[in-house]
Formats: sequence, structure tokens, C-alpha cells
Amino acid sequence: MKNLIIAIDGPSGAGKGTISRALSEELGYRHIDTGAMYRAVGWLAIHRGIPFDDEAAITALASGADIVVEGGVVAIDGHDVTRAIRTPEIDKTAAAVARLPQVRAVLVARQREIGKRGGVVMEGRDIGTVVFPNADVKIYLDASEEERARRRAGDSAHSGGPVEQKAVAEAIRARDLSDSTRKASPLTLAPDAVHIDTTGMPIGEVVDRVRTLVKDRTPA
Ligand code: C5P
Repeated sequence: MKNLIIAIDGPSGAGKGTISRALSEELGYRHIDTGAMYRAVGWLAIHRGIPFDDEAAITALASGADIVVEGGVVAIDGHDVTRAIRTPEIDKTAAAVARLPQVRAVLVARQREIGKRGGVVMEGRDIGTVVFPNADVKIYLDASEEERARRRAGDSAHSGGPVEQKAVAEAIRARDLSDSTRKASPLTLAPDAVHIDTTGMPIGEVVDRVRTLVKDRTPA
């Protein structure tokens, strides 16, 4: 099969990770979680004691760090942060770091380098709009705020402990607001993306729909 670039965007808790993983396994494609890159850079900034408003220093981190976000592992400069980046604190840190235009420029360039040969399912907020505006397939996954909060609250790896759904809903709302109103590459639906509302949809059904879209875009 042709090595397509598949862009999957959407807000937190929309199911991007689950769907991207399933799809990449099925197609034998690489799965790149770009959110994990912002999270890892945020983690390293905390680890090094760099304040979030020091854009130059965080940009230097984003540019120089060795970052791995594949094969179920997230690592930065030799630190395995796979679990450490899935906390409410790093949710906020990643969104703060992601507002910095120079940091975005550096990570977008790295994402383009990783994906340029195709054969990739890349998930994030700006993949179909900024990173790969010419992606072969663009999907925007969404779900109601309640459902996204429910999914996140049930995700114990993410919460790191018992979580109150209301608190999760609040945190998701704050992060969505930050992601969709920031100046640099805000979360937005690309005009040519296929919008899928996954509210109440079983995962298998979402994967079926996405698979059909990919098949339609694959030259015979
Ligand atoms: O997808 P995930 O929730 O792990 O992303 C963490 C944060 O990273 C998001 O809230 C967003 O601020 C930022 N992000 C981004 N652009 C991407 C991926 C993630 O701004 N392509």
C-alpha cells in the first residue's frame, strides 16, 4: 500500500490515541503522538527548573533534546517519561509550552522530518492544518465534553489515581480553551478534514469508518 500521511486531530479525550494506535497497527504504519513531544519538553523544562515563560530556553530544549515517541515509549534525553508525562500537572505544562510559537516551530519541523516519507499516522492538534496541510487523509475526531471527561476520568494511567469526573471536566475545558484560543496554530478543524463525532460510538465503529476513509484515498 502507498505510504500515506494520515493526520488525526481533535481535542483531548476525543479518542485520537486509541484510534491512531489501532490504525497504525493495522496498516503497519508508524504512529507518532505529537502531544507526547510537547509533554516531554514540558517535563524536561520542569526537570531542569526552567520557567515556562522562558521561551528561548525551552526552544533550545525542544531543539536539542533527543526525543522518542514511538513503540509505546516516550523518552527525552535518555529519561523514560512514558508514565511521568500522563499527569494533570503535565497536562497543564504541555499546553503552556505549546503556546510558545518558537517551541512550536521547532517541534513542527521535527514532526515534518519524521513524517515526510509517509507511512505514518500522526496525531495532534495541528497536523492537518499546519504540520502536513497536504496530508492524504485528514480526520478530526471529537466527542461531547461529558464523554471526553468520562473517558479521561476512567483512564487511570493518565490520572495517576482516583479522579473526580467533575475536576477532570474542568481541567479538560481549561486545556481546550487554551488550545483553541492560542495565537500560534490553535486547534481548529481543517476545511478538508473529515469530522467524526465519536460520542456514543464504540471504538470498533470509529476504526471501521477511518479504515474506509483511508481505503477511499488509497490509489488502486
Ligand atoms: O494530545 P495531548 O493531550 O497529549 O497533548 C498535550 C498538549 O500538547 C495539548 O493540550 C496541546 O496544548 C499540545 N499539543 C499541541 N499540538 C499538537 C499536539 C499537542 O499544541 N500537535
